[in-house]
Amino acid sequence: MRLSRFLLPVLKETPSEAQIASHRLMLRAGMIRQEAAGIYAWLPLGFRVLKKIEQIVREEMDRAGAVEMLMPTLQLADLWRESGRYDAYGPEMLRLTDRHERELLYGPTNEEMITEIFRAYVKSYKALPLNLYHIQWKFRDEQRPRFGVMRGREFLMKDAYSFDLDEAGARRSYQRMFVAYLRTFARMGLTAIPMRAETGPIGGDLSHEFIVLADTGESVVYCDKRVLDLPIPDETVDYAGDLTPIVEEWGGRYYAATEDVHDPSLFERTPEDQRLQTRGIEVGQVFYFGDKYAVPMKATVTGPDGVERPIHGGSYGVGVSRLLGAIIEASHDDAGIIWPDAVAPFGVGIINLRAGDADVDLACETAYAQLQAAGLDPLYDDTDERPGGKFATMDLIGLPWQLIIGPKGLKDGVVELKRRATGEKRTLPMAEALAELTRL
Ligand code: ATP
Ligand code: MG
Repeated sequence: MRLSRFLLPVLKETPSEAQIASHRLMLRAGMIRQEAAGIYAWLPLGFRVLKKIEQIVREEMDRAGAVEMLMPTLQLADLWRESGRYDAYGPEMLRLTDRHERELLYGPTNEEMITEIFRAYVKSYKALPLNLYHIQWKFRDEQRPRFGVMRGREFLMKDAYSFDLDEAGARRSYQRMFVAYLRTFARMGLTAIPMRAETGPIGGDLSHEFIVLADTGESVVYCDKRVLDLPIPDETVDYAGDLTPIVEEWGGRYYAATEDVHDPSLFERTPEDQRLQTRGIEVGQVFYFGDKYAVPMKATVTGPDGVERPIHGGSYGVGVSRLLGAIIEASHDDAGIIWPDAVAPFGVGIINLRAGDADVDLACETAYAQLQAAGLDPLYDDTDERPGGKFATMDLIGLPWQLIIGPKGLKDGVVELKRRATGEKRTLPMAEALAELTRL
């Protein structure tokens, strides 16, 4: 992509409405634009990162055996009357009426709809276990939308729903999602710790919140520091096998809980020098809720014995749009964002230090073509802005690498290669710089 043909409205001034780094940086880097309180347009740079995050979430769901589909954003109120949640949900639910006076709502979550779909088609235990997910916009009319995409009103969520014949099966489904979450967040460069959590309005008796530690987070957390050093299951993890050891290690061996369920007497069993009381950002939550929806909504299957029974369910959410904020909170410096390679909006930025100079332009075009051919997705700053401004913009938008090409260096046949995360800058021949980048 050529910067001159892109839309990157960077701001020099710090927006006064933004209280935390990620919100400030997303506005300054021209990633999002607020259209109403808690409702954002995703500008091209922000949208690229959103898609990368969504794709990692999708790949790990698929790997764990979940099946993707897509449900609509609008739902019938009557569906929610069946579960009893239409009245229970309160003012966070955005309710609307169509021209035929039918009551609708903009979905804050999809337990009811997925249960309705499931019961329409699945009648036998032979189709179980089944896990269906979608990645769709949600709306919750939050009392205090704030911190940008961290607490929006409209936000993108991945929500998966598992269906099993019995509790033992449902716990295995829960464990598969638990392990998939560990992998998902790690692939984005995040350490997200599963913490025992209250089950809240979704109900049920087993739940973990996945929390990224950050001083600016809204959740208060208590944990044993040793949980931070546990190994992440790699891609060879066998989802058909017994995942209990991994789940117990991460979810049970060390104390980790959010404020709601915090038990000081348990925390005190953690050696004093390992105790960590801090704050964090909830990026995902897993629930096992048994037959909470299956009973009122009559989602039943026939078991091997021919007897019909309600299924055991779980639901599993990831805050896809919130993750942008969480990643930036975890990875930035005074100059701007530092994207982990896996979610960076472009792989490398090319800075032309003297646009209009025939030699420099030619060298930049050559590098641009080669990096593009190598699949590195370069962003080429071909504008006529001054070098200082170009450096500041590249640091702000946080691409992993910068290839800096100017007239002085080219006289000696060299360019500069900068690693954004470390600030390390090396001067080397163009061919070597390109070889190094394309080897990545
Ligand atoms: P919170 O406690 O932060 O309000 P929640 O527990 O109500 O979130 P869930 O129902 O568990 O949210 O939704 C699944 C995930 O969706 C959350 O873990 C979070 O990452 C994300 N999420 C929830 N509410 C918002 C929001 N208002 N803006 C952005 N992401 C959100
Ligand atoms: Mg939650």
